[in-house]
Amino acid sequence: MATTITINSVKWIVFFVDKTHEELIDDDGEQSAYGVTCPRECEIYIDDELPKDHMRQIITHELLHAFAFSYRESIECESDEKICNFIAAHFDELKRLRKEILKAV
Ligand SMILES: [Zn+2]
Repeated sequence: MATTITINSVKWIVFFVDKTHEELIDDDGEQSAYGVTCPRECEIYIDDELPKDHMRQIITHELLHAFAFSYRESIECESDEKICNFIAAHFDELKRLRKEILKAV
């Protein structure tokens, strides 16, 4: 299964694939990632068997990579995985709190 998204006029294809897909495994054939973003191809690969909450987090993480590439932000450094993991882990909470704050305006 796949779907297409557009970020800042850049078209990305998001593929939901088996955990044995070549993009998700290492040289030994072991699963090395639950999600992968390929900036040159503008493709995102997501393990299609993840539990819903974990999948939401992985999708958010990969989306952050895609946003960084599409908006040409230079978060792509050694700490980018930490940043993407951190935001992905707290994204729902962040959205909920933003909504809560906006209600007070
Ligand atoms: Zn990552």
